[in-house]
Amino acid sequence: MQCSNCGTVFDDGAIQCPVCGAAAAPAAPAPDAQAQTPPQPGAYTMPPEPAEAGSAKIFGIIALILSALTGIGGAGLTLGIVALVLSLQSKKASGGAFTPSSKTGFVCGLIAVIISALQVLAVALMTVFMFVFAVLWELPDGMLSL
Ligand SMILES: [Zn+2]
Repeated sequence: MQCSNCGTVFDDGAIQCPVCGAAAAPAAPAPDAQAQTPPQPGAYTMPPEPAEAGSAKIFGIIALILSALTGIGGAGLTLGIVALVLSLQSKKASGGAFTPSSKTGFVCGLIAVIISALQVLAVALMTVFMFVFAVLWELPDGMLSL
């Protein structure tokens, strides 16, 4: 080893130069030292999504489409509930947090359930109203013959 201060060549095991006392230069870093740097904070990768997440997303989107297209939201309601259940299962499986897919499934499923429920509710109310109306006015046949 050669002293970086005075140039004296001395034993490799010495921790300082025997002539001038300068600390021995540290050994050159090993080639693989830089390869062992800790991972960057930005390089965090998301854990894989549970299987339910993708299913929840698909069911949610289909339910949303069906609930928007059909007059009676039975299909949308059913698939929407399925999407909600799957997305909640996925949320639990991934440690209590929504993944992008399961969140999509949850939101779409929720909207589909609300739309479908309103459709079913509207039809039910209409039926009840017409039934009560017909009974009150004693026109069970008149309603239909009009
Ligand atoms: Zn020296």
